Amino acid sequence: MDQAVSDYLDRYGVLDATRAFLERPQHMFIGGEWIAAGKRDAHEVHEFSTGGVITHIPAGTVEDVDAAVKAARHQFENGEWSRLKPLEREILINRLADLMEANIDELAEIESIDVGKPRELAREIDVQGAIDTLRYFAGWATKITGRTAEPAALPGSHLALVLKEPVGVVGSIAPWNFPLQTMIWKLGATLATGCTTVIKPAELTSLSTLRFAELVQQAGIPDGVINVVTGTGSTVGQAIASHPGIDKVTFTGSTAVGKLVGTSAIQNMAHLTLELGGKSPVLVFEDVDIKQAAAAVAEGIFFNAGQVCDAGSRAYIHRSIYREFLAELADYAKGLKIGPGLAPESFICPMVGKKQFETVTSYIRKGIEEGAELICGGLPNQGESAFVEPTVFADCSNSMAVMREEIFGPVLATASFETEEEAIALANDSEYGLASAIYTRDIDRVFRVAPKLKAGSVKVNRDGQVDPALPFGGYKQSGVGKDLGPEQLDHFLETKTVWISLS
Ligand code: NAD
Repeated sequence: MDQAVSDYLDRYGVLDATRAFLERPQHMFIGGEWIAAGKRDAHEVHEFSTGGVITHIPAGTVEDVDAAVKAARHQFENGEWSRLKPLEREILINRLADLMEANIDELAEIESIDVGKPRELAREIDVQGAIDTLRYFAGWATKITGRTAEPAALPGSHLALVLKEPVGVVGSIAPWNFPLQTMIWKLGATLATGCTTVIKPAELTSLSTLRFAELVQQAGIPDGVINVVTGTGSTVGQAIASHPGIDKVTFTGSTAVGKLVGTSAIQNMAHLTLELGGKSPVLVFEDVDIKQAAAAVAEGIFFNAGQVCDAGSRAYIHRSIYREFLAELADYAKGLKIGPGLAPESFICPMVGKKQFETVTSYIRKGIEEGAELICGGLPNQGESAFVEPTVFADCSNSMAVMREEIFGPVLATASFETEEEAIALANDSEYGLASAIYTRDIDRVFRVAPKLKAGSVKVNRDGQVDPALPFGGYKQSGVGKDLGPEQLDHFLETKTVWISLS
């Protein structure tokens, strides 16, 4: 660990357990074995606010993925896991959730340091959200059933059984913004249905998943059920997406990479879930409490420094309140504390790394060049920085890059509208369809507008909520399939019909 990072941990104080984890060598977890980098390459893991190196992680290889798939296959076909009763699986999954709960502060600190996010929010949202999700899916393990059916038109007497079977070995590829939570969003359904898995965390933020793997072993989950291979997307991710021994691929990340993953997976006819990018619209009507709605819209885009797939990143605001609303937004944004994740009260933390910082600032530059009016924030003025101020643009047209493209940073593009129809048309004028939000006190309007929005979720008078019981996923270029909710389970199950002739 670089001295700058060590000083950072000392300055704000972290648990001894967190420091001890960050200081020990990191290993992959394959078939219950801890695999060191050895002769493989190792990636540096950076803490971006200090610029220092936290640790190194092994750069997994195609052979590592193959070994992990074999271990997962063995457990799925013949191992102890395949013989467990659903209730025994439920107990094991809950034991794992208990261990996460027991280590929640450490997991939150690891997430805060690795991603660069507020420590408290990492605890409340990332880790607690992951624990809740795991418990929710533990409950499903005993409730997955098929059905009996009578053929509708077939002559003669028949009875049919429609069976639900676990799909097999699941390849799971996660992004860097909510590493633990996104991984668990996939793992809950994997374990509840009796599947096994090979997980690849994002190379920028693998640490919480590696700490989690230690808890997997401690919980007594049989070796090979959960395997973690760290490394790059082009090697480890691609090897998972294209591996013939993988029955289902579940991917969260950008639309461009999702298409590559889908193209590879379909060669093996692997089942596929793709949770992809977004450019989610927010519609603010004239009847809102302006102060309250502006705060909610601001939190919707500035939470996690805007590095959120379903962030409301383009807001259309009724013309009659447009300027007043912008003034409230700017006021709220200027009050958000900027600082490193471990510092108390920080809300806007560093971008995850240099590349993301450059992407976000290049979009701010583009917004200015394209003629959008800068209401607050803008380009960092001290040259090299890890932080981007919360930024709001006004009078954007739907043809501007800041309105069309996913920036994945604390940047809100806005425009005004006159009529409800115009607002809906502006909202739907996007290749993405992950989420949307409506702010109004008119319930009739909610029921008129929500069905017309082409998005996987419509949030009314708040933004950013997720819940394990409610499906999450996109329309259009934002993805295929759903995570969470009972709807997710079917993506991890095969359906088999057994015909019984009774005559
Ligand atoms: P990314 O697409 O660059 O990477 C995602 C994962 O894919 C990483 O683990 C990466 O290593 C891996 N990968 C990269 N190239 C690969 C390849 N050729 N084959 C297989 N795997 C490969 O995305 P990111 O930058 O990590 O995350 C940001 C993106 O994720 C944004 O677009 C965001 O909207 C999206 N996201 C979506 C959701 C959702 O639920 N819809 C949630 C979080 C993030």
